[in-house]
Amino acid sequence: MSISRLAACACLLLATTALAEEEAAPGRDPAQPVDEGYTRKIREYTTEPFFLSPLVDYLPASPDVPTPQAVLGDVAGAPGKLPYAADVYRYMRLLESRSPRVKVRTIGRTEEGREMIAVAVASEPLLAAMDDNRVRLGKLADPRTIAMDDAEADRLVAASFPVYYVTGTIHSPETGAPTALMELAYRLAVDESPYVRYIRDRVVTLITPVVEVDGRDRQVDVYNWHLAHPRENWPPLVYWGHYVAHDNNRDAMGLTLDLTRNVLGEYLFQKPQVLHDLHESVPFLYDNTVGDGPYNAWLDPILTNEWQMMGWNNVSEMTRLGMPGVFTHGDFDTWSPGYLMFIAASHNGISRLYETFGNAGADTVVRRLSPDEYARTWYRQNPPLPRVSWSQRNNNNYEQTGLLVSLHYFAQNAPAFLRNFYLKSKRSIEKPRLEGPAAYVFSADEPRPGAQAELLRVLQRQGCEITRATAAFDVPMPVRKPKDKDKDEAAAGADKSSAEKPKTETRHFPAGSYVLRMDQPYSRIADMLLDYQYWSPDDPQKHPYDDTGWTFGELFGVQVARVADPAVLAVAAERVSGEVKSPSGLEGSGPVLAVNHNADIGLVALRYRLKDASFEAAEEPFEAGGTKFARGSFLIRGVSTADAGRVAGELGLKVQALAAAPSVKTHPLRAPRVALLHSWLSTQDEGWWRMALDQLKLPYDYISVQTVAATPVLRSRWDVIVFPPVGRTAAAIVAGMPRWGNPLPWKTTSLTPNIGRIDSTDDMRPGLGAAGVQSLRDFVAGGGLLIGVMDTAELAVSYGLTQGVALGRAEKLKAPGTIVRARVVDAASPIVYGYADSFSVYTADGPIFNLSNLAGGRGRRRPPEEPERATGRGTADEPDLPQGRPFAEPPEEPKAEAWEALPLTEEQRRNPIYVIPPAQRPRTVLRYGDAKELLVSGLLEGAGDIAKHPAVVDVPVEKGHVVLFSNNPIWRGETLGSYFLVFNAMLNFDQLGAGRALDTE
Ligand SMILES: [Zn+2]
Repeated sequence: MSISRLAACACLLLATTALAEEEAAPGRDPAQPVDEGYTRKIREYTTEPFFLSPLVDYLPASPDVPTPQAVLGDVAGAPGKLPYAADVYRYMRLLESRSPRVKVRTIGRTEEGREMIAVAVASEPLLAAMDDNRVRLGKLADPRTIAMDDAEADRLVAASFPVYYVTGTIHSPETGAPTALMELAYRLAVDESPYVRYIRDRVVTLITPVVEVDGRDRQVDVYNWHLAHPRENWPPLVYWGHYVAHDNNRDAMGLTLDLTRNVLGEYLFQKPQVLHDLHESVPFLYDNTVGDGPYNAWLDPILTNEWQMMGWNNVSEMTRLGMPGVFTHGDFDTWSPGYLMFIAASHNGISRLYETFGNAGADTVVRRLSPDEYARTWYRQNPPLPRVSWSQRNNNNYEQTGLLVSLHYFAQNAPAFLRNFYLKSKRSIEKPRLEGPAAYVFSADEPRPGAQAELLRVLQRQGCEITRATAAFDVPMPVRKPKDKDKDEAAAGADKSSAEKPKTETRHFPAGSYVLRMDQPYSRIADMLLDYQYWSPDDPQKHPYDDTGWTFGELFGVQVARVADPAVLAVAAERVSGEVKSPSGLEGSGPVLAVNHNADIGLVALRYRLKDASFEAAEEPFEAGGTKFARGSFLIRGVSTADAGRVAGELGLKVQALAAAPSVKTHPLRAPRVALLHSWLSTQDEGWWRMALDQLKLPYDYISVQTVAATPVLRSRWDVIVFPPVGRTAAAIVAGMPRWGNPLPWKTTSLTPNIGRIDSTDDMRPGLGAAGVQSLRDFVAGGGLLIGVMDTAELAVSYGLTQGVALGRAEKLKAPGTIVRARVVDAASPIVYGYADSFSVYTADGPIFNLSNLAGGRGRRRPPEEPERATGRGTADEPDLPQGRPFAEPPEEPKAEAWEALPLTEEQRRNPIYVIPPAQRPRTVLRYGDAKELLVSGLLEGAGDIAKHPAVVDVPVEKGHVVLFSNNPIWRGETLGSYFLVFNAMLNFDQLGAGRALDTE
């Protein structure tokens, strides 16, 4: 045998050995004893043998390490056992104290002060080396630190081990993950089977067992209430987290919730390669890693291929283990980057998400699936069973088996995934010279420095580096032609000279402008947030999973320049250290303080912080002390300049002291008493409003529809009632829940210590009711302001709180979370103080308002077209001439734009019972743009249904007002640009008629 053949044989031998180890069959090590009692319970609580796998059908015994039974009193997934977060943590810390393979650390606190943790599980050598390994992972995550040297990256990959991060129970009614993750941590620490050892020796499994801790504890309360009242209906979980429900999984863009910031913080600290979030809704395991299109447009294709590898491997392995109902293609598109797991996708890692089947509690019950859930399809050849007895243990078996299979596959391919991690990071840095852009620039002459600073702070929280130009600079920018003009030129066969017009223009940026360079590792999240989205109406995906447009510059009302030319990277600039802050403080001297109204949200906080000062709003623009002030600007007296300067500094606002008040018409600007109104049906969308008020530290009372029904004189307690969208029909908000069955309490008791603290009731069922509607009507008539948004605006209209507004019917409209152009109709209305003539708003199939000057009038959808002439004499553009009498010119038919009411006719004015007096007629303040210009970002179909219709209407009602929103101005902490439409209405609640030109008849 020649030497070379010998060498070949040796290689083959090595390869075979490695293969044998890698392909270790899932299953227990016969040499390791099994915890017989625990194992018996696993089998007892699993409803069918095929809902088990060889990975979880036993529990290894350990002489030192306690099983989850030590805390639960039963096995993980046992019926009737749902641990509080503190119990889960107690077990994880017990593991840490008994096993050298477990480490627990705090990663932050929730809004209500509860702890969040991350548990690392791996072999002793790996855990001991985690700090050094993190340094290496940090270099792979930021290849600038190794001068983009691929050979050095290879050396780092060879020396490193990856981290796989699993998160559980972000959605509170999805209850199975904490116990599954307790048992998984035990298995990874204790099991000596070759399959589990293989994982433990190669990968750090990082676990946050409860993401939504506040909501978990409330869910356990509700479940315990249910156990204590076995024959009764139990209260639905109306509050999950402190602010929002399922939208806690839509916060990875705006980063407003503590849970998102804490998981992101842990992600940026540990540099894991995967973030795998556990959910429960779909039978039996939908690994939506593959999901469906359209995929987010800013992802590195390396990642989307990793999704395919991991997703299909997951399905094939679990199918081999005989578990039915496992699939990975399905109706989840990965267009929006708002999901928690997407923190990884937008930061060069791998995002994954499981939907397993859960019972919203730990009862074992018979579940009946819908035909589309149990249908056999090409991607689900072994579908779930149509009718099944399902237990929390089944769920825990699926979650653990899926995770172990994934961890094993990941361990097998650890070097490849680490190498990809490096490549994705490197390609993010190379972005300016590959696909671009080179940078995003935020000008120092931004009219809204406060919103600009907040947008930059969001990007900083996302891990992006911001630099600031030390000198002025110019960049070429593409020329944007208005759409109309393009068409006209094309139609006219544009001549040569216009075709040769330059395609770029020079844009000047002053010194101090912010530059977000794209040659940095987290450039992709900047691109995702700042670029525009276009979802074609022809896309095969007809059911967008979430918002289709979110362009942050548009929603924040901030100018953002996308610069393609890499020359921008040579601009002299310094890295910003610490948080970006807007220029602020007090300038000048004198007794009158002036603050320009630019719709920066800090302005509303200023009014409340200087509560005892006298504030007035200027009804016209003015100039003073060499500065131009916009309409609505504040004039403040009765506060020391020191106090005003300090508060302005804290709020990031500029105040100018003037020697004398400018001569401009003003009205008082009060700090109104505000109530935020919620229904007991859902608090999901309202929570974003509550959060916005809390972040600005605005005082308000938080009341329910039941309070309104029980308070006959609301006006004596409040000036403004804000009723954010509920997500239900107007009729449902009035009706509440059905009254049959037992009362549904939402109260703090010893059995339910975590609920009832945000608001409470003895019985969630009653809605607003007729009494509540009447109270609101009296409130408005008595001088109060009611703000209704989307469905609550529909409620105000359809229950007769307003006159002269009707609801149109959408024929083709599809705006499922879309940014659209809005235009100011009445710039003198206080509601649009601080706004430009045109700006962007967020809409989600908002109501179509039609106005009428007649009470009970339906308005009309579109202005009538010029009537075609009737059959008769003459040509098409001549009038008919009846014979035998002189010709009588017909009067002109009334005409109006879609945002206006039709002028009254003489006939309507004859006995004007229904004619609304001019001062009580609805006033359109803001309208949707024309159909052609309406879409700014996202998907828009059937634009004509809503184009030009009112977006914000101010309806005077006796002494008060109802302000109706078709758009949603406060949404997910992403729409800062439109917040002030609401704040203006609040601050000017008793002056909303300012600047109004009344109809003459
Ligand atoms: Zn979920």
